[in-house]
Amino acid sequence: MTIVEDVRIKTGFIYPHSASFRLLSVNAEIIAIGSELLTPFRQDTNSLYLTEKLNQLGVEVVLKTVVGDSRERLVSVAQHALFRSDIVIFMGGLGPTEDDLTREAVAEALGVELHRDPEILKKLEQRFAARGYQMTPNNAQQADVIAGATVLPNPNGSAPGQWITGHYEGRDRLIILLPGPPFELKAMFDEQCTERLRAKLPPAYIATRVLKVAMMGESLVDSRVAPIYKRYTDVQTTILAGAGDVQFNLFTRAASMEEAQQRVDELAGEIEDELEDAVYSSKGESLEQIAGYYLGMRGATLAVAESCTGGLLAERVTSISGSSRYFLGGVVVYSNALKTKFADVPAGLITQHGAVSREVAAALAEGIRKRCKATFGIGITGVAGPAGGTEEKPVGLVYIALASEDRTQVEERKFPGDRKRVRWFATQLALDMIRRKLM
Ligand code: ATP
Ligand code: MG
Repeated sequence: MTIVEDVRIKTGFIYPHSASFRLLSVNAEIIAIGSELLTPFRQDTNSLYLTEKLNQLGVEVVLKTVVGDSRERLVSVAQHALFRSDIVIFMGGLGPTEDDLTREAVAEALGVELHRDPEILKKLEQRFAARGYQMTPNNAQQADVIAGATVLPNPNGSAPGQWITGHYEGRDRLIILLPGPPFELKAMFDEQCTERLRAKLPPAYIATRVLKVAMMGESLVDSRVAPIYKRYTDVQTTILAGAGDVQFNLFTRAASMEEAQQRVDELAGEIEDELEDAVYSSKGESLEQIAGYYLGMRGATLAVAESCTGGLLAERVTSISGSSRYFLGGVVVYSNALKTKFADVPAGLITQHGAVSREVAAALAEGIRKRCKATFGIGITGVAGPAGGTEEKPVGLVYIALASEDRTQVEERKFPGDRKRVRWFATQLALDMIRRKLM
């Protein structure tokens, strides 16, 4: 298969940049190279790392591409990227094997030569000798340097990176080649690129905020919040929705840190005013962290009796370091007999109302609270599915009870989705009930 080249992109690259050269705008594009990244078995995680680091420097990542080990495709992707983005980062394909084509392809896209650097070659030979190996000839391509490039040493591997600045199609460009193995890439970016990059950037500061909302549907949340964030055209708002959880990521860039922070804080404040107590986190904390925070702050303790969630609630609560201060423990009581034996649910109550019922949820919560001498008890019983549903008690029906000294509150919900989702929803609501109780 041949790829038709964009005919506009032919003029190539000029690189007479002086040391004082600075980029005027700061959009970055990341290109992950490797056929393994196009299989179901490997993911491009490097770009997440780089995106975070670039954001911290005030650089916005506007495009990402994953391309296999094909020279033709790589040249084409490189040409388009160089045409449209100020900073282009290539990662992977710098190794010694035949499918490591990044250096060649980038040189071709730029229309410049590669030359073999004797110093790098010597270092490669020394590296092999130090390990008692003879260097095979294919390793030499790791010493190929794109004309005009600055070589970036690789403290954790053999293939060095490359750093190139110049004009492409009349526009200022910065091009970085990094190795694919994550521990090599991270070290090289942190040690070799961060400060170099900062020196090339115009002063720009990025501020971010994360707001999280529990137990409200995405469309409902968005219908209330969209009119607000649409007014903030300088703040980028993205929404991530999960089971019983909606997350808003706010992102802005400004000439000073104060200005950037003020803009995201203003928007966050307006969203919080609109959604009131549905917002459980304004700094990115998880719901289990927030519930734990309130329990700890009030000096309260918690015990749980879980049926359909099989310990997931206890797992989430105890995933927080320091949870031993407020979490006493609990039981997973799947069978009716164990509900009676370990959480003191009267057998007659189960016969009368069924294990999945408001009454049994309340009894689980009250029973475990008393048994463990906890401030609060949680009881969860439901039909997680996919089997076991009836007309009267369909799949997704869950009762969640929160017992305290003076009262027991029971919530009945019909959660949508598969077994995993229903169980997650149930623990999400349980944690949110604790939060609301203590807020
Ligand atoms: P070398 O061939 O010397 O190891 P390289 O620069 O050629 O280095 P690759 O061969 O492309 O790198 O990748 C080496 C390893 O790093 C592989 O295990 C690969 O899955 C992993 N890797 C490559 N790119 C990424 C990426 N974008 N995100 C996460 N892992 C990656
Ligand atoms: Mg590869």
